[in-house]
Amino acid sequence: MTLTITVAAPSSTANLGPGFDVFGLAVNAFYDEITLTKTKTKGVIIVAEDDIPTNPDKNTAGLVVKNMIKKFKTKDGIEIKIKKNVPAGYGMGSSAASAAAAAVAFDKLYKLKLDENLLVEFAGTGEKASAGSIHYDNVAASVLGGFVIVKTDPLDIIKIDPPSNLRMVIAVPRLKVPKRKTKVSRSAIPKKISLTSSTKNLSNATAIVVGFMNKDPELIGKSIKDMIVEPARKHMIPGFSKVKENALKAGAYGVTISGAGPSVIAFSKSSQDLKKISQAMTKGFESAKLECQTIICKPSIGAKIKT
Ligand code: ADP
Repeated sequence: MTLTITVAAPSSTANLGPGFDVFGLAVNAFYDEITLTKTKTKGVIIVAEDDIPTNPDKNTAGLVVKNMIKKFKTKDGIEIKIKKNVPAGYGMGSSAASAAAAAVAFDKLYKLKLDENLLVEFAGTGEKASAGSIHYDNVAASVLGGFVIVKTDPLDIIKIDPPSNLRMVIAVPRLKVPKRKTKVSRSAIPKKISLTSSTKNLSNATAIVVGFMNKDPELIGKSIKDMIVEPARKHMIPGFSKVKENALKAGAYGVTISGAGPSVIAFSKSSQDLKKISQAMTKGFESAKLECQTIICKPSIGAKIKT
């Protein structure tokens, strides 16, 4: 009988410009590790060293496990050990990585053999603990890996293998992020949009999908243009315009906010000077008196069982 299982799930970037709540990409920058262990005492306990909630209802992994226990009527208690590597609250899908790893681990622990869409659906329920609402872009990328498109009603995740030479530079500014950052930045988005900006976003979003299908990093990067969400959110990231301008000048094909920010992500390919792009982004944040950590990364595979 399996008593314990460990799963690692990757960080991810959501939206990729025009694909708000629809596009996600798993990135190999960081991996959260979740260990689930069956216990004799009922209920869910969270063991975590980092500054994340240990109340299961407020923790994305805790909520996923609670929802799965309820749905599958399992009898054991569960201890969730969280080794957090994805920095929380920076738009790198930290809350989603924990949720994704928890769903995959629970599935394995009880040999449920759930299909991919159901795994993503359960992982998505965890996002309620951090963002206040369910959204699937980050969890889908974290569970399945690669580039994902979230098709809804009913939930159906479409996955495309990214080009092997696609590279990203992520700049994570040292900025104090508000506790309910995703909720706050979601409220900044306009409720009504013009037909012109919707047409432009649709055109770019479609081109991104073609870029992934044709394995063309340049088409992907050059289509990362967002007329709707980025203009409404960029003021929340000091130095954003300079970071973007510098990265584009240094050879990035496209630059946008990673998820709800404040990390900024530049898209390029392996033959480009990625160090130059990361230095340019650092300088951009320096113009706003902010330090940042830059990570050169590539697409990742999805959640993986370690033991
Ligand atoms: P991210 O882009 O990192 O997912 P969010 O703002 O959506 O950013 O989520 C981070 C928030 O979610 C933090 O306030 C954090 O305390 C909370 N949270 C709850 N559970 C977790 C978890 N397991 N991992 C990371 N953050 C979590």
